[in-house]
Amino acid sequence: MTPVETAPALEVDGLEVVYQRRDRAPLRAVAGVSLRVQRGQIVGLVGESGCGKSTLARAVVGLETPVAGRVLFEGRELSPLTRRARPQADTRLQMVFQNPFSSLNPRRRVGVQLADALAISAGDATATGSRAERVTALLETVGMPAAAADRFPHQFSGGQRQRIAIARALAADPSVIVLDEPLSSLDASAQAQIANLLVRLSRELDLALVLISHDLAIVNHVADAVAVMYLGRLVETVPSRELWELPAHPYTEALVGAIPKADGERTLPVALAGEVPDPSAPPSGCRFHPRCPYAFDRCRVEEPGLLEIGRGREVACWLHEGADEPIAPSQLAAARAASAS
Ligand code: SF4
Repeated sequence: MTPVETAPALEVDGLEVVYQRRDRAPLRAVAGVSLRVQRGQIVGLVGESGCGKSTLARAVVGLETPVAGRVLFEGRELSPLTRRARPQADTRLQMVFQNPFSSLNPRRRVGVQLADALAISAGDATATGSRAERVTALLETVGMPAAAADRFPHQFSGGQRQRIAIARALAADPSVIVLDEPLSSLDASAQAQIANLLVRLSRELDLALVLISHDLAIVNHVADAVAVMYLGRLVETVPSRELWELPAHPYTEALVGAIPKADGERTLPVALAGEVPDPSAPPSGCRFHPRCPYAFDRCRVEEPGLLEIGRGREVACWLHEGADEPIAPSQLAAARAASAS
């Protein structure tokens, strides 16, 4: 991640989430993930469907109970969500869900829902202005007219509803927002608008954002840094500007290669080889080895941890052992093959 001096707004340390299942092996959906996000930073979390990124998001905000690890929010360990109200300071960690229609109450006017969110926010007692004025300000912040307060969620488009869901998260005066696939139910034009809104909010409000998506192209457009997840683990963390030029993990390389290019060079997504393995019975050694074109003997028996390969870059791949700068996996594999022959 981008190195800065201040303590992170959000720190995830060795988090593990395991689902116990009747008559089936336990599912280790998140298998030891560590992540740091600073104020004003957007970190994209990407990976194929089923890699554990949404479970990680829910565990970060307390909607899942981890079996190991911890979440530090603004330097304090986050208390698990229970039936009792969470400490008010912890409400500054917010979540936005994929489907804004199901996360908003269809029977209540937008203004009432925003006013409710303001009423339980930590800053409500000391805020200036009436609640109605603050509802208007929230709507304006997300690019919605004040008149939207009098309408119901079904009277808006998907993109507008997602703006309202973001406004509701902003009512808590958050320092961190975790967004779980917030763009995936929207059309391309609404996706671009919401993506630009997120960048503006992060910069103007000094917000830390964790943006979860299966769409690497969008994440790369929006995020400052990207964390790539595979089968419950992070396999690469990389500043976004370096992602396109030099993906270091073979899985990241495959994801980048699967993105259609505007110049028509790759007009169809290239399918990644093989299926995602069953997370309840992950492959031995490196979890990616059955799909990796560069796998060698060690990969099948020993699991690599994250290795530092330069400023803000980490990769979990044996090819990079001993490297102190990012090098393309194909180059490292060719050098390996040459030295072995
Ligand atoms: Fe491929 Fe081996 Fe690297 Fe895993 S450790 S990504 S199998 S080369």
